[in-house]
Formats: sequence, structure tokens, C-alpha cells
Amino acid sequence: RQAVYAALRDVVPVSADGRRISVMINAGLRDDLANLSLTGADGIGLFRTEFQFLVSATLPARERQTRLYRDVLEAAGNKPVLFRTVDIGGDKTLPYLRQDDGDGEENPAMGWRALRVALERDGLLKAQARALLEAAADRTLNVMFPMVSEPWEFDAAKAVFDGQLAFLRSRKKRVPEAIRYGVMLEVPALAEQLDLIAPKIQFMSIGTNDLTQFLFAADRSNPKLAERYDWLSPAILRFLRRVVCTLEGQPIDITVCGEMGGRQLEALALMGVGIERLSITPASVGPIKELIGKLDVGAIRAAMTDWLASPPANLRQSLADWATERGI
Ligand code: PEP
Ligand code: MG
Repeated sequence: RQAVYAALRDVVPVSADGRRISVMINAGLRDDLANLSLTGADGIGLFRTEFQFLVSATLPARERQTRLYRDVLEAAGNKPVLFRTVDIGGDKTLPYLRQDDGDGEENPAMGWRALRVALERDGLLKAQARALLEAAADRTLNVMFPMVSEPWEFDAAKAVFDGQLAFLRSRKKRVPEAIRYGVMLEVPALAEQLDLIAPKIQFMSIGTNDLTQFLFAADRSNPKLAERYDWLSPAILRFLRRVVCTLEGQPIDITVCGEMGGRQLEALALMGVGIERLSITPASVGPIKELIGKLDVGAIRAAMTDWLASPPANLRQSLADWATERGI
């Protein structure tokens, strides 16, 4: 199989009915960059910037952040990179970042983390914004914010970038040619405000890892709950389809960047609800490209519409049977 996947490296992921599906990878460290050429992925759909902070004994200086981001963009060449601002706090604590109000939280996943930390410790976000803007000089910068629950949080985070951009311009420094902003959709509250967030953004990345835990109120890191919910449940798939339908026709790229997208049946289901961009773990790129090449996207969409209107007892089984019958 490895040889089959290697041969798919230069194959553009187009479905049997001619739909171009974008298959990108998730990354976070310099070591991950080689995966871009190894897999032939369409870009980095999620660059988790907090990894540099997590592997460092002290807060990474701005220049160090700039160097990393520049290397990432260099390695990506013409392919897009979606940088996510730091998602730290909660359970990903940094010894050098005091969490006076976050210490000993009872529910860290829904606590003081991600953008909530960045907006309060705005020195951290300012440094990161400057590093990203400098690294992407004369290129396109794609930046997204994690755990956005309310549109004002996006505005506040973007204002930090605007401030840094104005500063660089006032100093006659080179700045990005274009800046595209996005949000992670991980908190269900944001999905109820799509009309309010849509005019502000150019892309949205659905983080199904967090989204699932919040939809089901089930801790993603608790193994006792792992069997309690399924990514292929009508709850998730209806939710995702509603998001895709609501944003349809708007110039917003929607990507799924949670672990779910790297699994065969889950990826099939995602394409069934209208997702056409996946950002996945590099090892899954070959298998998912192979799946796409055999898939009639129109047919899985039609099947999914029926299943979600009147869900079968076991949607996972129905999907598996559907795929087997078609030699997928
Ligand atoms: C997610 O929540 O699905 C996601 C991609 O972000 P992370 O796994 O880093 O929380
Ligand atoms: Mg997340």
C-alpha cells in the first residue's frame, strides 16, 4: 500500500465525478515541513503555532517566531499555509506563562485558553502578530484564531494585527501582499452567529476535535467517553451540513482540520455534507487521495441527504455498506 500512496503523491485529488478536493496537512514544527513534499499535499491547512511554545523552556522571542514562520512559508512555496494563533492555556499550560486566573481550573478545555488568553495577554498576541506579518512580507498571510465564540473576539484579535500592520507601515517595513483572516469553528455558539461572523472572514476551519467535545459535552481526552459518541452521528453531520449550507455562495473557504478528516468513513461523510477541503495528519493523505479518486461526490451527497433526513439506526454501518457496494 505504501507504494500505492507514494505514487499518489503527484496526483491531484479529483473525485470520480470531477470535483477538486483540497487535501492539506496539519503541522506545527519545522520537522513537519518535509511532509509537504512527501505527501504532495495542497498546503498546510492548520499550522499549530503553540507547538513552538510548548517545546520551548522560555517564551519564544519574537525573532525566533519570525524565523519559524518564514521557514514554514519558504517550505510551502506557492502552497497556502493557515497559521493559527497560539492555542495555549487550559490543559496546555506553559511554566513561563503565569495563569493567575487559570490555575487549577476544573474544566480546562472550556476554560482560560486559546484566544481568551491571547486577548488578555495581548503582549503575547502583539508579538505573534508582528512575527507573522514580518515573516509573510510580500506574500499572502492566512491567519486564524482558535476558540472564537463571539464575533467581537475576532474583531479584537484582528485589531491587534491591524495595529501591528500600521506600525510596520509607519516604519516603511515590508508587509504581506494580502492578509486573509479566518476563525476556527470549535465552539457551537459561533455556529449560531454565522451571519455575523461571515462578512468579516475569508475562511473558516472547523476543528471537529473540540467541536465534538462541546457538542456532546464529552471530554475529548477522557478514554471512558471515547465510545460514548461517534463522529458519524447525525448530531455532528447535521451540524456540519447546516454550517456548509448557511455559508454556501459566500466567498469563504471552509476546511475541516480535526482528526476526523483523516479517517476513511469520516472523510466520506464530510464530503457527503459538502466539505471540499480537508486538513489532515500527513499519514492519511495517501489513503484519502485514493478514496477521493474513487468517489462520486454527487452520489455521497445525495445518500447523505437521505440519511440525515431520516437517520438509519447505524449511520456508520450504512456508510460502510455504501462504500463497499461501490468498491471504495
Ligand atoms: C480541533 O479542535 O479540532 C483542532 C483541530 O484543534 P486542536 O486539535 O489543536 O485543538
Ligand atoms: Mg481545537
